[in-house]
Amino acid sequence: MSISKGEEEHALELHEKSLIIDFHCDAVLATLPDSAFIIGSGKKRNLLERSTEGHVDLPRLIEGGVDCQVFSHFVEPIYNPIASRRMLQVLGYSLSEIEKSDKMEVVTKPEKIEKNHGKKISIIIGFEGCEAICEDLRFLNIFYRLGLRRLTLTWNNRNAIADGVRWQRSKSGLTEFGVEVVRECNKLGILVDVSHITDNGFWDTLEVSKDPIIASHSNCRALCKSMRNLTDEMINTLAEKGGVIGVNYVPFFLSDIDFSKFQAGDPEEMKKVESVTVERVVDHIEHIEEVVGNVDHIGLGSDFDGVPSIAKGLEDASKLPNLTKALVARGYSDQEIEKILGGNFLRVIKRVWK
Ligand SMILES: [Zn+2]
Repeated sequence: MSISKGEEEHALELHEKSLIIDFHCDAVLATLPDSAFIIGSGKKRNLLERSTEGHVDLPRLIEGGVDCQVFSHFVEPIYNPIASRRMLQVLGYSLSEIEKSDKMEVVTKPEKIEKNHGKKISIIIGFEGCEAICEDLRFLNIFYRLGLRRLTLTWNNRNAIADGVRWQRSKSGLTEFGVEVVRECNKLGILVDVSHITDNGFWDTLEVSKDPIIASHSNCRALCKSMRNLTDEMINTLAEKGGVIGVNYVPFFLSDIDFSKFQAGDPEEMKKVESVTVERVVDHIEHIEEVVGNVDHIGLGSDFDGVPSIAKGLEDASKLPNLTKALVARGYSDQEIEKILGGNFLRVIKRVWK
């Protein structure tokens, strides 16, 4: 990235005054005291204190200038037989942690996000996967009352609503219950999220939902073949419906890297992961812009704390100004950058939440 001193100062000023929204992180899962997932070294962390581990906590969100963060809530698959009970435990943990600080607040109204801008961090409750809804809309209803405002229909696995990306061969779309859930989300005012769903599930959701839908943390398949990413046709249709795609900072979804070889410690793949930088995130932003014709459907969905490695330059939430610098260096206007950093997600929240 080549950026002049003046441009850098301008980028930091713009970053400071922009309303910044990140539509996906797994900080709750990563800090949950009895989490079944060990991320990083497994050293104890919490949401309020700065850690050198992982990617997100309150001090690092503040330092990174984040104004609104979706905390994803996830039921670890071993708890699927008691998913709703586990989700209540996870929610019980996160809500009480958030309450401990006057610098964070759970929000369920868009006006609150604007009001909190510059004062405290607005937290949106998101679920990743619908296992906790237990094939009963009354569960969706009660979770809505507990603050749920973003529902990622599936994680990688199959659930009662649809199949996740690990189930591509099934070629299935939404189930009958899945259709009911999408309609109920429209009725209640919950943002429906298609990150992680199969392609057929994606198309079904777009057809069924009367509201715009989002992909909270997905990138472009044209630049990285992962099935977690969206094809140009998907990007276009989602945009036509008024939705937003949150680009993530995950090397495996930014460049073609073999995840299983990486996990096995293959030096070639390790090197590839290390060479992915914030510039590659901007490449995906640029690609969506090229496909759609403007930046109105691009947002941020870091996937912080959900993955073992992150693009260089965005090592944790505190590094977010580097993205604004990279956008300035790439020639984006202030207005375009403000839309990408949060303006677009705020627009869709205003349209969908009741
Ligand atoms: Zn995810």
